[in-house]
Amino acid sequence: MPILGAHMSIAGGYFRAVEIAHAAGCDCVQLFTKNNNQWRAKEIDDESAAKFKNRLAELGIRHPIAHDSYLINLAAPDDALWKRSVDAFVVELLRAERLAIPYVVMHPGAFTTSSEEVGLRRVVQALDEVHAQTRGLTARCLLETTAGQGSCLGWRFEHLATILDGVREPERLGVCVDTCHIFAAGYPLADPRDYQATIAELDRIVGLSRVKAFHLNDSIKGLGSRVDRHAHIGEGALGLEPFRHLLNDPRFADVPMYLETPKGARDGEDLDVINLRTLRGLLRRQKSSDRRPATKRRVATHAESGAATTVLPGGAAATSRRKRAQTRRTSHA
Ligand SMILES: [Zn+2]
Ligand SMILES: [Zn+2]
Repeated sequence: MPILGAHMSIAGGYFRAVEIAHAAGCDCVQLFTKNNNQWRAKEIDDESAAKFKNRLAELGIRHPIAHDSYLINLAAPDDALWKRSVDAFVVELLRAERLAIPYVVMHPGAFTTSSEEVGLRRVVQALDEVHAQTRGLTARCLLETTAGQGSCLGWRFEHLATILDGVREPERLGVCVDTCHIFAAGYPLADPRDYQATIAELDRIVGLSRVKAFHLNDSIKGLGSRVDRHAHIGEGALGLEPFRHLLNDPRFADVPMYLETPKGARDGEDLDVINLRTLRGLLRRQKSSDRRPATKRRVATHAESGAATTVLPGGAAATSRRKRAQTRRTSHA
């Protein structure tokens, strides 16, 4: 089963994002650790951090992930803005670390008045500087694929490869693939052959093992438009097929996927709930020969394989999973 969640607001506290995610039926959650349109933020106190971590455990929400501030531009040709961006990104990593969040998603940046080549060099320098200032931290940066609006870098897989190849500590970086962005950037995903070709290209240029997260968004604008406008799943230019391919692709079964679709309600129902239902409706029933057996066959298969990650019915993990499913059903009743 794919790991599905959404970006959630931290209004009222970090733990609130976890509660909203749980109420919407998410498995995972993305959040900003500070106001994304401001440079400054007050420090995270012990109580807020503890409450956040406890709520994640209590509600069974996994893979918390952070997204950095929109003000940060590590490709900026202007030295003052570049330096400010480096400092701000260091703070982003420190805040994630404090909340035990393993990854901070970031847009590589915009070269504005310089060039693609110079911009990419600035990003490499900036990340080296960030890494030098955050020795020993476990929180890592995920470079996000972008739509390529204006002078934004990261819309070609090659841009990400240039950054990964250029930095001194590439092992401290990963990649987040946004479906809306890569489509708007010109990578087709709907036709099965196009999907396979796009993923093969991602693998060849970036490497699939680098992909630590997906952003699941449909796109208002068309293929190659290079315009970043998110639509509800299946209601944009992408349609349902790309999501069907992705969600049923065993290579990404363990990679968390987060919605960043518009918030609100439709006919009184939360739009995240609607989008998650649309996504889960695309899952193919698994054949009994598949690696992950259906519930009925679970006991026998686990007994045979003795897999450490799976638990027999009645075991602790199974119990908490059941309890979680029950709470989820209740909260949606
Ligand atoms: Zn995104
Ligand atoms: Zn976007």
